[in-house]
Amino acid sequence: MSDRKAAIESVYHVPCKEDHTDFGPIMDCLCGSSMFILGAWFDPDTREIGGYLLEGQCMQCGAAVRLPTPADQVFLDDEGEVRHL
Ligand SMILES: [Zn+2]
Repeated sequence: MSDRKAAIESVYHVPCKEDHTDFGPIMDCLCGSSMFILGAWFDPDTREIGGYLLEGQCMQCGAAVRLPTPADQVFLDDEGEVRHL
């Protein structure tokens, strides 16, 4: 069992059926689902999600996954340098 999978199971108290954490942050699970179980907290002023854990579980198949952030989106500029969106 990978350290990431074990950590995710420890946080959510639910065994993960598979480990997809080696694929990096994903928008969709390998099973096709785009719904995830994640730990989040709320901004007391806006009552919107203020942040979330980057480790989660697929809601459909129960796999351990790494969740995306805006910083994951990168592209190469005209000089071949990595740029973040
Ligand atoms: Zn899945």
